[in-house]
Amino acid sequence: MKRLQEADPEIFAAIDRERNRQNTGLELIASENFVSSAVMEAMGSVMTNKYAEGLPGKRYYGGCEFVDDAERLAISRACELFGCKWANVQPHSGAQANMAVYFTLLNPGDTFMGMDLAHGGHLTHGSPVNFSGRYFKVVSYGVNRETGRIDFDALAKTAREVRPKLIMTGSSAYPRAWELARFRELADEIGAYLVCDMSHFAGLVAGKLHPDVLPYCHVVTSTTHKTLRGPRGGMLLSSEAGGELLLAGMPKAKSFIEAFDSWVFPGIQGGPLMHVIASKAVAFGEALKPEFKQYAKQVVDNAQAMADELTKHGYYMVSGGTDTHLILIDLSKKNLTGKAAEKALEKAGITVNKNMVPFDPQKPMVTSGVRIGSPAVTTRGMKEAEMRAIIRLMDKVLKNMENEAVLSQVKAEVADLVKGFPLYE
Ligand SMILES: *Cc1c(COP(=O)(O)O)cnc(C)c1O
Repeated sequence: MKRLQEADPEIFAAIDRERNRQNTGLELIASENFVSSAVMEAMGSVMTNKYAEGLPGKRYYGGCEFVDDAERLAISRACELFGCKWANVQPHSGAQANMAVYFTLLNPGDTFMGMDLAHGGHLTHGSPVNFSGRYFKVVSYGVNRETGRIDFDALAKTAREVRPKLIMTGSSAYPRAWELARFRELADEIGAYLVCDMSHFAGLVAGKLHPDVLPYCHVVTSTTHKTLRGPRGGMLLSSEAGGELLLAGMPKAKSFIEAFDSWVFPGIQGGPLMHVIASKAVAFGEALKPEFKQYAKQVVDNAQAMADELTKHGYYMVSGGTDTHLILIDLSKKNLTGKAAEKALEKAGITVNKNMVPFDPQKPMVTSGVRIGSPAVTTRGMKEAEMRAIIRLMDKVLKNMENEAVLSQVKAEVADLVKGFPLYE
């Protein structure tokens, strides 16, 4: 980045410090990952200059021949990766993907069900501070207090009572796999659309480490930058089955997939980010390689190793463990808050995020929980032994939160650990 350094030393310095932070820290935020240099090069390319409103072959601007090539590749690779017939790779983010789906399938004021934010759901699944809670009537579902797992019986009872037009599944802090077959049965019974937002675990679905999602849903939304390890962005997917059922349920049939497309543009977005779409194609290409399957398996194995080590050290996890890449630690039994833990861990070079646990007595800015995940450290090449070492370091921090000497000692140990797993030049 020599030219940037000369042209804008202040921004260069900020980027340089951020790169150094990523290189030297221990990244345990479950929604983050590290993209390859190829993914990053595509994002920093000339494709940022191009306006390409519309879809490949049907644009509102001239000169789209080559951005069309890139978008067609992104679409066909996404379809190959997830076994579906249709994809829209234009959503700028996961939130935009969800907005396009709600606007296609619901009218303002319609009722939908989504997972409670405090139980692991996402803001866009109906929080009152988000558009999803502002434009639609939301009835939330959650987990059972004892098991920490989705209380499906309660959910089904509510669904039969309120008859939502759509059921949103998927989450940001629920550590267990989503078994969507019974959700689909319920949705069919009450005549609702079933949507899965697989933002968090898309990489595990791609690697076949999570039960199938596409065949059960009318439409699936996702981010591309979490376990999937692509650039920051979103997408919509639908399998043939989902598409057909959609057609069967809607008389205006053929225009329905088109309705998703037109709610993305011109419904809620302007010009697509062609440099990001090119980069998504690169990431999907990477995810189609056998190595990615290995990666996804290691992500899950690593999360299991962390959960096992946490249990050994007497920590309580929501639902008792994980099936995925993420773990939600409930620190209330240790008389700690998520806020204090996040801060102490940060001082020791370990990045996590505080997180509400189900039925959390603490406020959202304090919380009783900490969410951790294995995707980023697994990308660095770390395996089970390092996961166990990380949990031991975390435990040391959480037992000595006020002891600055211990925190700096752990920070040195973290630096030592990550040195063996180089990231960016
Ligand atoms: C991260 C996430 C999103 C939002 O993605 P952004 O790209 O940050 O808008 C949506 N849904 C779920 C379940 C997520 O985890």
